[in-house]
Amino acid sequence: MQKSTGSNNQDVKQKNRMLVLKLIATNKGISRVDIAKMTGLSKMTIGNIVTELIEENLVTEKILSTNQCASNNYGRKPIMLILSPTSPCICGMLIKRELCQIILGDLSGTILEQINYQYTTLENNEALINMLIQGFNTLKERTCRPISAISIASLGPLNSPAGIILNPPYFYGIENFPIVSIIEELTGLPAFLVNDANAGALAEKLYGIGKDIPNFTYLHIMNGIGAGLVLKDSLYNGDSGQSGEIGHTSINFAGPQCACGNKGCLDLYANVDNMRRKIYDLSPFYPQSPLNKIKSPTWCDIIDCANNKDTLAIIAIEEFCSYVSYALINTLNLLNIATLIVGYDSSLKGFIIEDIIKNKLSHTLLSADYENISVIHSQFNGNAPLIGSIAFVADKIFSLTLPLLK
Ligand SMILES: [Zn+2]
Repeated sequence: MQKSTGSNNQDVKQKNRMLVLKLIATNKGISRVDIAKMTGLSKMTIGNIVTELIEENLVTEKILSTNQCASNNYGRKPIMLILSPTSPCICGMLIKRELCQIILGDLSGTILEQINYQYTTLENNEALINMLIQGFNTLKERTCRPISAISIASLGPLNSPAGIILNPPYFYGIENFPIVSIIEELTGLPAFLVNDANAGALAEKLYGIGKDIPNFTYLHIMNGIGAGLVLKDSLYNGDSGQSGEIGHTSINFAGPQCACGNKGCLDLYANVDNMRRKIYDLSPFYPQSPLNKIKSPTWCDIIDCANNKDTLAIIAIEEFCSYVSYALINTLNLLNIATLIVGYDSSLKGFIIEDIIKNKLSHTLLSADYENISVIHSQFNGNAPLIGSIAFVADKIFSLTLPLLK
């Protein structure tokens, strides 16, 4: 039977307190008056909560100088509320196939400390744990702030609620690995596991461009393609945290067998190896392309050349986006979502991926006839899953499912 839970006065007070802390953290500077406007709470309630948060060293005041103040304020100088530099922080870990990034970040999603480990193989599960713990201990020594929890964003598939990395393809034989319980035991801190693209979606929702968008799909392009779904302002995790595995949805039922058991999965078509093959095959027709001078062009090389209007790169990206769009149309039609946020690494400014995908979706999506399809570049470029590792814990703290400190 589903339980209904009532709220007593203490619960309401806690809820309001976390709502205020969330607004201060996610707006990176906000006044008491603005918080009152945004929450509908009385100025006195806001005043009391803020006083408490300041006394607990979670929040501090920052007086804006006249030139920082946009409005003509003839009275007192506006006082903004920001997170205190001694407020608790979160340890975020992002596990990729060849890189592990470990950070300390605060509740505003700001990275305070970072350490990266690159590898081409991992001997066993222990090697992965040793690296994560070494990184954690190094960062812990660099801060005097308390650490609330550890959040691991990882390539999938995972069982997120059980804290287990299942069997990521080509991940050095690491499988069925109960990473969360081991990290908790070694650090004494609560730990969580989240799919990397889901983490990216949450970063956009809490701190990024998706803040005011109730429903969107976040598409992350890295070694494979992952998606995170935000529905009704919350991350949709699915039953076991495996939602959004768009890379393993089929775009060709008669296609090749995928390691996941399915046939013709998107990952088998939309990948850098296929783009390189296309570039190699067509290079005699485009002798001027800068890609001809690069032996094995990376994703960044190709995307940067395409943004610089190189025809050969654009052809490769066009094909890539066609494959991605087929899979996206299935997802977006099923859920009736009109906003797509795309995250990937690039060093040049440009929106060729977004423009091509938008064009394709606008011609094929059922809702495109009566809704404006929006395809936006991630606020964090390729870093949303890393910021999202912090967001995953911050979201739990703001929604009172995890205490700020144990
Ligand atoms: Zn597959």
